[in-house]
Amino acid sequence: MDLTEIQALQQSLLEQKGLILNKSHEFRLEQADRSSYGDEAEVASGNVAEDLSLHLHEKDRRTLYQIERALAKISSGTYGQCESCGAEIGDRRLAVRPFSTLCVSCMEEQETIPRQ
Ligand SMILES: [Zn+2]
Repeated sequence: MDLTEIQALQQSLLEQKGLILNKSHEFRLEQADRSSYGDEAEVASGNVAEDLSLHLHEKDRRTLYQIERALAKISSGTYGQCESCGAEIGDRRLAVRPFSTLCVSCMEEQETIPRQ
C-alpha cells in the first residue's frame, strides 16, 4: 500500500467512525424518548426491538474498536503487518478485510486451534 492509499483508507475509517458515533448518539436519544412512556405493556412489547437495537449497538462498538485499532496502526506505521509473524498481510486481503490483523497463514493456523 502506498501513502495515497493509506491516506484514503484513513479518511474512510474516520468517516465510518463518524457515522457510528452519530448513530449511537441517535440511539441514545431514541432510548431517552422511549423511557418517557411509563406503560408496562409498552415496555414488554418493545423488548424485541430493544434487543435488536442493543445488538446493533454492540456490533457498532466492535466496529468502532476495529476502526480505532486500524487508525492507531496507520499512525504508528504498522498497518498491514501481521500481528503474529510481522509479515505483510497483503493488499488484496486488506481490500476485502481492512481490519485484518493476521496474514493468511497465521489466520489459518489460529483457526485450526480449537476454541476453549
Ligand atoms: Zn503472519
